[in-house]
Amino acid sequence: MRAVGAYCSSRLPLDILMYLLYLDDSGSVQNAEDSHIVLAGLAVFERKPHWFSQELDQIARRVWPDNPAGLEFRGNDIRGGKKQWRGIEKDQRLAAYREAMEVLSRSSQVHIFASVVHKAAVSPNDPMEFAFEQICNRFDRFLGRLHNAGNTQRGLIILDKSSYETSLQKLSLDFRTIGHRWGQLYNLSDVPLFVDSKATRMIQYADMIAHATRRYYENGDASLFDIFSNRIDAVGGVMHGLTHYTPANQRCNCLICRQR
Ligand SMILES: [Zn+2]
Repeated sequence: MRAVGAYCSSRLPLDILMYLLYLDDSGSVQNAEDSHIVLAGLAVFERKPHWFSQELDQIARRVWPDNPAGLEFRGNDIRGGKKQWRGIEKDQRLAAYREAMEVLSRSSQVHIFASVVHKAAVSPNDPMEFAFEQICNRFDRFLGRLHNAGNTQRGLIILDKSSYETSLQKLSLDFRTIGHRWGQLYNLSDVPLFVDSKATRMIQYADMIAHATRRYYENGDASLFDIFSNRIDAVGGVMHGLTHYTPANQRCNCLICRQR
């Protein structure tokens, strides 16, 4: 990851270690049937993605022995039996999804971040911009905590290329300006990266996290969300990695609103 140091502003030395935050979105800004949009994913230390990728490779070998590397883990496809998941028994598909989420729940090396926005709460503003701001702030604060504990790390945000068509593209292009407007992104690199989910198991984790989170908020189905919720960034039992933005008059009893 040394090369990405070139993006860093001059405040920190280039050989500083990095935390990578992989993000994906779920839910459509345009589709009126979706009341929530979600931006979510996982932050890991730069030396860890290889280990996490191997864990998904192992599940893939069991599900699709003919071409495990070609099996892409995407929440919507796994649950709906679409693309390469077509023809695989539902029980087996769901077991694979659960197993992937259990990899996260078992590892103390992963920090999950999720921003859930009820579209009506921010209308007519762009809910994705709001979610992105929330996540950037929370990730920045997480890095600030590490820094205060004597463990200075820079943060790099890596997004799924498919979210390039959403407003995230523009937000990323203007990240430097926007980041300053948000006022407090001290620890993030200036330019988020877009990568192809086919080539990156980490983005596939982010997709599954985002999809499971939206299932929880949109369908009241906590079966997958509950598996990894123990890895949502938290300190001393207080959760910082999850935000839920709702209309002012709406009561909510979700994991984070309960905490307030
Ligand atoms: Zn809530």
